[in-house]
Amino acid sequence: MELEPVIGLEIHVQLATKSKMFCSCQNDSEGLAGNTAICPICTGQPGTLPVPNGQAINYGIKAGLAIGCRIPNESKFDRKHYFYPDLPKGYQITQYDEPVAVEGMVNVERPDGTTFQIRIERLHLEEDAAKNVHLDNATYVDYNRAGTPLAEIVTRPDFKTPADAKLFLQELRLIMRTIGVSNADMEKGNMRCDANISMRPHGDEKYYPKTEVKNLNSFRSVERALEYEIKRQSALWHTNTPPIVTTTHGWDEARQQTVLQRTKEAANDYRYFPEPDIPPLLVADIIDEIRNSMPELPTAKRHRLQDEYQFKPTDARQLVDSPELCAFAENAMSECAAWLDTLGDGNTERDAGALGKLVGGWITSKLLGLLATHNETIATMKLTPENFAELMALVATRRVNSTIASKLLETMIKVERSPQELLEEMGVGSMEETTGLPEVIDRIILNNPLIVEQYKNGKVKLIEFLVGQTMKEMKGAADPEEIRKMLKEKIG
Ligand code: ZN
Ligand code: MN
Repeated sequence: MELEPVIGLEIHVQLATKSKMFCSCQNDSEGLAGNTAICPICTGQPGTLPVPNGQAINYGIKAGLAIGCRIPNESKFDRKHYFYPDLPKGYQITQYDEPVAVEGMVNVERPDGTTFQIRIERLHLEEDAAKNVHLDNATYVDYNRAGTPLAEIVTRPDFKTPADAKLFLQELRLIMRTIGVSNADMEKGNMRCDANISMRPHGDEKYYPKTEVKNLNSFRSVERALEYEIKRQSALWHTNTPPIVTTTHGWDEARQQTVLQRTKEAANDYRYFPEPDIPPLLVADIIDEIRNSMPELPTAKRHRLQDEYQFKPTDARQLVDSPELCAFAENAMSECAAWLDTLGDGNTERDAGALGKLVGGWITSKLLGLLATHNETIATMKLTPENFAELMALVATRRVNSTIASKLLETMIKVERSPQELLEEMGVGSMEETTGLPEVIDRIILNNPLIVEQYKNGKVKLIEFLVGQTMKEMKGAADPEEIRKMLKEKIG
């Protein structure tokens, strides 16, 4: 029997608001001592009243729009009851049947260029619980996190593979960061994911009892846990004992396996009812305003980088993953055009998008590689977009070959210098000492009779092509000015 996995995700995204969801306590309590960012509201004291945080509602709508959701004009808060020490009121304020955003869609591109779509069922706002801290033989509760605003995003069971689930989460993180509503860092817990998975015979439309895997705090663990569950559940199907009840499993990072936590015979009774202390949210007036303030989203940005600069799709993808790198690349591209004009086009690679491919390639392979080697980042390096653009213009016009350019780039990461300055310093002297330049020039003239003819007929810019060819032959170890002079003399 051939089986296929049915996978859906539930993601909690911590919203990076200044204050908490229903009180004015400081939201980001990283580094604070336990129970110092708390008040009577977020510790659930009797008689207190929750007041919804406008910024959190705004962020929820923004996040909803960014994942293609429809924003109903009205939504409301509900109480979800359960009993646990990290939930001081005995209920969580969340949204049950009228969430702030519904029916979305996210397009994700795989590294091989193929794409897949994931439908979003809903995005609702709620408050986070406190944190239980297990120390020695006791459990302590830190209420700093209690009341942190969360956007819970629920997907449809549209994932076909664990790898796609991971890619989707990475795209979601990028979207949340791009629109500025969350740091969405899984390792730090500001994006948390539960994965639901069941297997079914290929082609079957039915859903079978699923496993809910919790405690997945990295992209890798999501992928691994799902792979593990596919193997575990497939084995059960193949021995004619498929899962008959829904279960909750935890992910054991050390043992790289899921562990049964509990079985759910029936749906939990959370005794949902509307939160009587908060009136319905009427948001019709602010939806357009939020939509208009939306920054360029990753998918649009990738397409624009390809259209506007002719970056290769893989380069565009890598650039969009890092806003700093992307800004650097865009600045470099506009500077590069200016440099090419200054240098006189000559035989440039400007046409047919070759410049975008050249610059994109140099950034994603050479520059990133050198930064890693030298333990530098885009933020710490001394290389400016202007100097990088000048270097690229020199490469594009074949004034320096890639070996020399790599060496220059390595230096330019550490000192803020222009490549032409460095070239002069590195020694026109050493270039002059190179033997064989006259012979190489003779050969280049001999091998390019058409170019030489056109040059003589007035296409003076073609000299740059011959300079470039000579530089290539000399492996960059020659002075372009000198070559140009010798070429002109010899051609006459
Ligand atoms: Zn509070
Ligand atoms: Mn939730």
